[in-house]
This record gives sequence, structure tokens and C-alpha cells, in this order.
Amino acid sequence: MSVTPVTLGEGRTPLLRAPRLSARLGVEVWLKLEGLNPTGSFKDRGMALAVTRAVEQGAPGVVCASTGNTAASAAAYAARAGIAAAIVVPAGAVAGAKLAQVRAVGARVVEVEGSFTDAYEASLALAEREGYAVVNSVNEDRIEGQRTAALEIVEELGGLPDALLLPYGGGGNTKAYARGFLEAAGRLPRLHPAEAERRADTFASAIRIVEPVHRAEVEDAVARSGGAVVSLSEERLERAWRALGAEEGVFCEPASAAGVAALERGVARAGERVVCVITGHGLKDADAVRRVAA
Ligand SMILES: *Cc1c(COP(=O)(O)O)cnc(C)c1O
Repeated sequence: MSVTPVTLGEGRTPLLRAPRLSARLGVEVWLKLEGLNPTGSFKDRGMALAVTRAVEQGAPGVVCASTGNTAASAAAYAARAGIAAAIVVPAGAVAGAKLAQVRAVGARVVEVEGSFTDAYEASLALAEREGYAVVNSVNEDRIEGQRTAALEIVEELGGLPDALLLPYGGGGNTKAYARGFLEAAGRLPRLHPAEAERRADTFASAIRIVEPVHRAEVEDAVARSGGAVVSLSEERLERAWRALGAEEGVFCEPASAAGVAALERGVARAGERVVCVITGHGLKDADAVRRVAA
């Protein structure tokens, strides 16, 4: 690339053993702590590349629709690059801390009445009007950047895990991991993307996406890997989220526990080595603690 890469120090996140979960579930559980990225979620891996490309192309700004973490990430990397950012969010559906992250770095927030899909359509219109680069996960650079997490896992474990479990919202991250594993090892571990049964109104706001934009590719990769999509009740999501905190001291946002919840559904066989991707930090949605405790 001809421009200096835009970076905030993303990637190289810890891969941590989870001894209590492992003992309780009879499998070897590892946690990839993506909440330790600069803005608190894995979105930073792809955003670094997407914003670098936007600068390279001379875009005056970036725009995205978001359930929150893409927004926080896009806003921060745009500020870092010295270009504008406009964030389109479904009104009332984004956790407060994520909006605070967006505002703190000076991005513009546009609230849209309706769903994530409505916000997404509005973001495309805004991109057209302002000449901004769209940095939603349909942006290929996002997927390319996010694939690095899979490369790190293979490097650190010295090979593929037996299975990978991760939350399934739009499916971009599942697609990115599949790409990274194929690149690093030439084949896939069993993929278990974990979605909320109640996609439209789950308390796990980061995966509150009714229509996953990458569904076809996710289903294809999952089938080739011998895995399966797992659907989770609110109760299971909540229980896994609490267990991660109480048993391992890992405080993540509710959606990020979906992989562990899938594990508790019994998708791994005894003794297998599995990686659960903990996608975002608990401080992103501290209100969730109060709501659940109440
Ligand atoms: C974006 C996000 C997800 C969902 O990832 P997809 O690529 O949309 O499937 C899960 N957890 C967190 C914390 C996120 O920010």
C-alpha cells in the first residue's frame, strides 16, 4: 500500500486456557479474547485495513450501519486516520458505552427508526451522497483483516483446534475465520456459529441481526467443516455469559458468550480441543449486568 497503514495496535490478543470450563465440560477449552482489541471488539482487525484502504482511495470519510461495535471501531480508526466518520444506528438499540465510544472520538451519529437492515440501507444512501467509503462487513477488507485471528490461533496451538465456536450475527466473522484457517492449515476445524433463537430482540445486542448478510457463505463453510449452526435461547446465552465471568473471571458482553453457550449444548466430544471466540469486552454493555441482576 502506498499510504501508511492506519493502526491502533489491534490483533495479537491472548489465547487463554479455561481450566474450570474445561473440567466441567470434559473438553479442552481455549478462549480467544478479542475484547482486548483497542476499541474492545474483534471489529478492529478489519477496520484497520478498511480505513487504510479508504484513505488510500481518497475518501473524505467512512460510514457504517452498526449494532454498536462496528461503529465504535470505525469512529476510532477514522479519527486516527484524520477523516470523517458517520455512524448509522437503529434508534434505541445500541448499548450506551458503544455510543459513548463513537461520540468521544468526534464521529457523527445518525439514528434511524427501524431495524439494523433499515440502518444499513440508510448508510448506503449516505455513502453515495457524501462519497464516503462503506465499512460494513460487506467490505472485503474487513473480512481480510479479521481472518488474522485464525492465523494467530493456528500459530499458537501449533495446528487447528477440533472446533471453533463463535457468535453468529451477520456471519462476517465466521467467514473470516474460515478463510484464515484454510490459509494457515489448508482445511477447517468444525465450525459452530452460535446465533440467538430470538435474533430480532435478543438481549445479546451485538448479534441482534434478523437477516445475516453472509448467510449463504456461512452455511457453505459450516457444511464443509462438518460443523453446525447452533441456535440459543436467551436463558442459555445468559447462563453461559454468567459462567464465563464466575468460573473464569472473563467479563464479556452478552453476545460474546454465545460460543461457550454452544459448547454447553454439547457440540464437542470428550477430550476435544476447542476455541471459543470471546468477541467483545464486558464494559461495552455494563447495563446488561444490572438488567440481569435485577
Ligand atoms: C459484530 C459482533 C458479533 C457478530 O459478528 P458477525 O461477524 O456479525 O457474525 C459478535 N459479537 C460481537 C461482540 C460483535 O461486535
